Amino acid sequence: VLQVSADLWVETLGHFRNCGQGKAECVAYLVGRIEEEHPVKTVHPQHASSARFYELDEGWLNDFWIGLARDHERVLIQVHTHAGLAFHSPTDDAWPIVHTAGFLSLVLPGFALDDACLRDAFLAELQPDGTWRQVPVASRISVGG
Ligand SMILES: [Zn+2]
Repeated sequence: VLQVSADLWVETLGHFRNCGQGKAECVAYLVGRIEEEHPVKTVHPQHASSARFYELDEGWLNDFWIGLARDHERVLIQVHTHAGLAFHSPTDDAWPIVHTAGFLSLVLPGFALDDACLRDAFLAELQPDGTWRQVPVASRISVGG
């Protein structure tokens, strides 16, 4: 189970609220050391977005990969917001930032404006055959515990 500290979670929700302003989707990556299982920082990428989608800046993404390799870090989970209900859209299925089996993608409803939005979140796990499977949030993520 991924242990996300309360501070890291609050910081991540802060990105969603500052950037999305309750009007647009936002995305963040929880990053940890390669040899460790727990995230140590949250990274808010340069991206475009609307109420219905987000799109990463390709230049930013390229620099991000270079930085991760240099610093021996990896993305443990991607987290993004939806306007309404949390689910994994076809676009979400097709464009994860990491394509490794077991990668986790968390979707938060209501632009993550509610402090308790994790309760109604949708968590998808990438399968070895490239499909996604919904898994219970509590089976993979623990916040503040
Ligand atoms: Zn954002």
